[in-house]
Amino acid sequence: MKIRSMTQKISYRLFFTCIFGFILAALLFTSTFYAAFKAQVWADLSTQANGISVVCEYCTDKSDLAIFANEDFSITLVDTDGTVLYESHPSDTANNYITEQEEIQEAFQTGIGIAQRETQSLAAYTYYYAVQLSDGTVLRIGQDAQSVWKIFHNALPVILLSCGGFLVVAFGVAYFLTRRITAPIMEMTRDLEHIQNNVPYRELSPFVSAIYSDRLLRENNEKIRQEFTANVSHELKSPLTSISGYAELITSGLAKTEDIPSFATKIHAEAQRMIILVEDILRLSQLDTMSERADGAPQFEQINLYELGLECIERQSINAKRAYVTLAIEGQDAFINGNRQLLSELFQNLCDNAIRYNKPGGRVTIVVGHSGASIPYMKVRDTGIGIPKESQGRIFERFYRVDKSHSKETGGTGLGLAIVKHIVLVHDGKLTLESELGKGTEISVRF
Ligand code: ADP
Repeated sequence: MKIRSMTQKISYRLFFTCIFGFILAALLFTSTFYAAFKAQVWADLSTQANGISVVCEYCTDKSDLAIFANEDFSITLVDTDGTVLYESHPSDTANNYITEQEEIQEAFQTGIGIAQRETQSLAAYTYYYAVQLSDGTVLRIGQDAQSVWKIFHNALPVILLSCGGFLVVAFGVAYFLTRRITAPIMEMTRDLEHIQNNVPYRELSPFVSAIYSDRLLRENNEKIRQEFTANVSHELKSPLTSISGYAELITSGLAKTEDIPSFATKIHAEAQRMIILVEDILRLSQLDTMSERADGAPQFEQINLYELGLECIERQSINAKRAYVTLAIEGQDAFINGNRQLLSELFQNLCDNAIRYNKPGGRVTIVVGHSGASIPYMKVRDTGIGIPKESQGRIFERFYRVDKSHSKETGGTGLGLAIVKHIVLVHDGKLTLESELGKGTEISVRF
C-alpha cells in the first residue's frame, strides 16, 4: 500500500476547506448585498415618485416634469384612457402600448405598481415605480441600474486580485496549521524511549500504548533470552569441566589404572547429564515455536487422560520403588483434545518431580476427573518435601531450582516445570500449584 503524507493530506484538506468557505461566503455576501441593493432602489423610487407626484398635482404644464428626468431616470404620465400626457424618454414608449405594461395596469387597479425589466442592451435593469394621482392619471418613474453581472464584470480585476491574494493566504494558513498539528507527532516519534510521556493527542494514546507495550515485551524477551543463554552456558560448563578433567587425568597418565573405570563411569554420567540437558533445551525451543507460530501447532486427537496416567505409573514404577515411594492413580476417564506425546511428557515430568522431591515411605497420587462444570483435569499430588512460599511463584521459570544440589543429585535439569508450563500453554490449559513445606505438593492442570 502506498503510504501517503499526512502533512500533505491535512494541508490539502484545509486549503480546499478555506477555498470552499471563501466561495460560500462570497456567494452569500453577493446575494445579501444584491437583495439590500434592490430594496434600497425600490425605497428610493417610492420616495422620488411620491415627491414628483406632489409636484405633478400642482403643475399645469406637465412638460415641467422634465426638470426631474435625466439619462438614467425617466418620467411618464399616463391619462386614465391610456393617452401619454408626458414622456421624458419618448423612444422608450414609442414601440410599446404603455397601458399594457404591468406596473401601469397595477397602478390603475391598486394605486401603486412596480416592475423590473432588462434594458435593451441587457447590461442594466430598469426599475419602474408607478403611482396613481388623485385625478386618476398614473405617474411612472423608471430608474436604470447596472445589472449584477455588469457590476461583477466591472469588479472582476479586483475580484481576481483578491482571489489570488486569498489563495496565497489560504495556502499559507493551511501549511502553517498543518505544521502546528503534525509537529508534536514528529517530536513524539523522535524520542521513542519515552514515547508514553510525550503523547500530544488523546487519539494517539492506543497507538502509543501498543508501541510501548511492544517495546517492553521485546526488552523482556531480550532479557529472558540473555538470561537463558547465560544459564545454558553455565549448566553445560560444569559437566564439560568434569569430563575434560577426568579425560585429562587419563590421557596424561596421572590416573591410576584402578581409577580409570570409575573415571570413565563419571565421564559417562556427566555426558548423559549433558544429553538430557540438551534434549530439554531442544524440547523447550520446539514448544516455543509451537506456541508462537500458527503453522508450528502440534497434531491434536482425542486423549483419555486416565489412560495416560496409567501409562505414566507403569513407566515410573521402578523409579518410585528405588525412592521407596508408593505410586497410585484415582479418578475416572476424562477425554480431551490434545497431543499424546506432549501430554505424556506432562505426566512424566510431574510424576518424576513428585518422586524425586519425596521422602522415603512417601506417596504420589495421580488424580484424573472432571471439575464442577465438567472441565477435565489431572493432578499430581505428593507427600514430599514441599516448596517454600517464596519459591512457589518461580518454580516454572527456566533453570529455577529451590535446592540446586538436590535437583542435580537426582538428575534434574531445572527445565522440567518450564516444559510443563509450555505444554499446558499449547493445550490452553490452566496450571495451579498448592504446596506446603514438609507436607507435600499438588500441581493441577485444568483443560
Ligand atoms: P528440576 O529438574 O530441578 O526438577 P523442575 O523445573 O522440574 O526442575 O523443577 C523446578 C524446581 O521446583 C525443582 O528444582 C524443585 O526445587 C521444585 N519442585 C518441583 N516439583 C516439586 C515437588 N513435587 N516437590 C517439591 N519441589 C518441587
